[in-house]
Amino acid sequence: MDDRKVYVIPCSGIGKATASVGREATYRVVEDERPGCADTICLGLLTLGDEEAEAKLQEADVITIDGCAKDCARKNVEASGKPPTISHRVHDYLKEHRDLKPETVLDIGEGGRKLADVIAADIAEEIDELRNECGDPCAGEDE
Ligand code: SF4
Repeated sequence: MDDRKVYVIPCSGIGKATASVGREATYRVVEDERPGCADTICLGLLTLGDEEAEAKLQEADVITIDGCAKDCARKNVEASGKPPTISHRVHDYLKEHRDLKPETVLDIGEGGRKLADVIAADIAEEIDELRNECGDPCAGEDE
């Protein structure tokens, strides 16, 4: 059920390797880490004011991941009328894991993939906490 999901929304940057890391982390969360209770929505739909996409977010928690300090994901989610519950920047993780520098936009490399794993694990924990808060924990259950 959509209203039980936590939405993880990365920025859509196509020119920064850190944005690619954010998208990779999102896929890890929604496909591998918490497939039963996490999902994502195309940021472009929110930017265009898509009513169906906006409605999905209204009853859900939203976690954004941005590739740089311009915070496009956070700002566009806010503009849709639903402030994110939690906002992340890939750069903040990179500061703590300087050895995991992503390589390029198209191939984030081994370091970038490990950085995406770190972010995904963090977000999976946040999802568990959010779900516990509302009395409905989800630890990787299938839909
Ligand atoms: S947050 Fe930065 S990397 Fe992401 S879309 Fe915006 S400008 Fe591009």
